[in-house]
Amino acid sequence: MNETASTSETEVTLLKSALRGLACKCPRCGQGKLYAGFLTLAPACEHCSLDYAFIDSGDGPAIFIIMLAGAIVVGCALVVEVKYQPPYWLHAVLWLPLILATTLLPLRAMKSLLIALQFHHKAAPGRLVDRAK
Ligand SMILES: [Zn+2]
Repeated sequence: MNETASTSETEVTLLKSALRGLACKCPRCGQGKLYAGFLTLAPACEHCSLDYAFIDSGDGPAIFIIMLAGAIVVGCALVVEVKYQPPYWLHAVLWLPLILATTLLPLRAMKSLLIALQFHHKAAPGRLVDRAK
């Protein structure tokens, strides 16, 4: 009952939450900046004062990025090796910048996306339910 009354203005769709995440904006208002540095979070939203202390993205963003970047770089290296068989120094010249580009560039947005999804789904550490009540 109370849930349906509050859905019209305050509830945000999953797509909107994801877009706020990809834009590195506050997961609640979508206006304030999420980061104070490259990957350092601001203490709170400058627009709606949401305290970012609840955020715990852990290793999730890095794992996603490693999996995606690994598939892209290894796939490209295999194709180039099979087709052209270049010397090893050329592999290093080709793939080191690609590794940096595929890991560092999307890391900020991926971390922010996971934070936005954590906020959207109200994810929190597990707690035991008291069933005696
Ligand atoms: Zn905010």
